[in-house]
Amino acid sequence: MGDGMKSFLKKVLLSIGILIVLVLITHYMDRDKETKPVPIENSSSDLLEIYYFDVGQADSTLISYQNYHVLIDAGNTVDGVKLVPYFKELGIDHFDYVIATHAHEDHIGGMSRVVYNFPIDHFYMPNHSSEWKSYSNLMKALEKENVPLETPSVDSTFDLGDLHFTILWIGEDKEDYNENSIVLRLDFFNTSYLFMGDATGDSERNIDSNQLPCDVLKVGHHGSKYSSVAPFLETVKPKYAVISVGKENEYHYPHQVVLDKLEYLGVTVYRTDLNHTIHLQSNGRSIQFDFLETDLDG
Ligand SMILES: [Zn+2]
Repeated sequence: MGDGMKSFLKKVLLSIGILIVLVLITHYMDRDKETKPVPIENSSSDLLEIYYFDVGQADSTLISYQNYHVLIDAGNTVDGVKLVPYFKELGIDHFDYVIATHAHEDHIGGMSRVVYNFPIDHFYMPNHSSEWKSYSNLMKALEKENVPLETPSVDSTFDLGDLHFTILWIGEDKEDYNENSIVLRLDFFNTSYLFMGDATGDSERNIDSNQLPCDVLKVGHHGSKYSSVAPFLETVKPKYAVISVGKENEYHYPHQVVLDKLEYLGVTVYRTDLNHTIHLQSNGRSIQFDFLETDLDG
């Protein structure tokens, strides 16, 4: 090969290299754009909206449709301080249902503040007491605000307009509070959603398998390997999985084995530590996600 040819080839290779770098840069810039904040809508539309809040190593999910509002868990105590104004900003003036999946700080910590700030039609919680300070604070708040604590039974249902909810699981005074976690299913026209709380593999095995297949799974116990057992995930077979988890948390959630199982099943995974607050919208046929930087973490 002559020198002229060599330098020509070098130039071609260099150009290809630059092109690849440019394509990669544009790709990552686009990805960055997706996580930029989207204006909050006080929606009076017919869309179901679900917010899986980025509350660090904790859990809080809001389900809103027309003027119906359901809150599942309220993060740690510090999260309540930020969640309450955020709910008000969204135009929420009451909750039809507030569900405390179980009495751990990372689920009920912020809840007494919610009880003091909004009228609540129904308050659901497993029937177990707890030593946590946040538990006694919550009991005090419910008493002061005259909100009765209700413990639903397995297979009980409630409807809010077109939203159909089923209690799939609730434990009875198990020593491990996670096993008491309320597991909730939501059906909205042709779409369906599971909210697992911190339910363990034992609870997953006890749920009626006919009730499991769904589109969006809120993964149990922040992606712990003691939840999301293989037969359960294979039956649920969600299109999307959402994991509420803190950045670099001490428990190393989500566990790799859970992520591997979800990947094997071809599930698209969103995580609050990577995607921030995960905002879902559905018209009952299709489901869309976007990501909000809500500054709720911590
Ligand atoms: Zn938890």
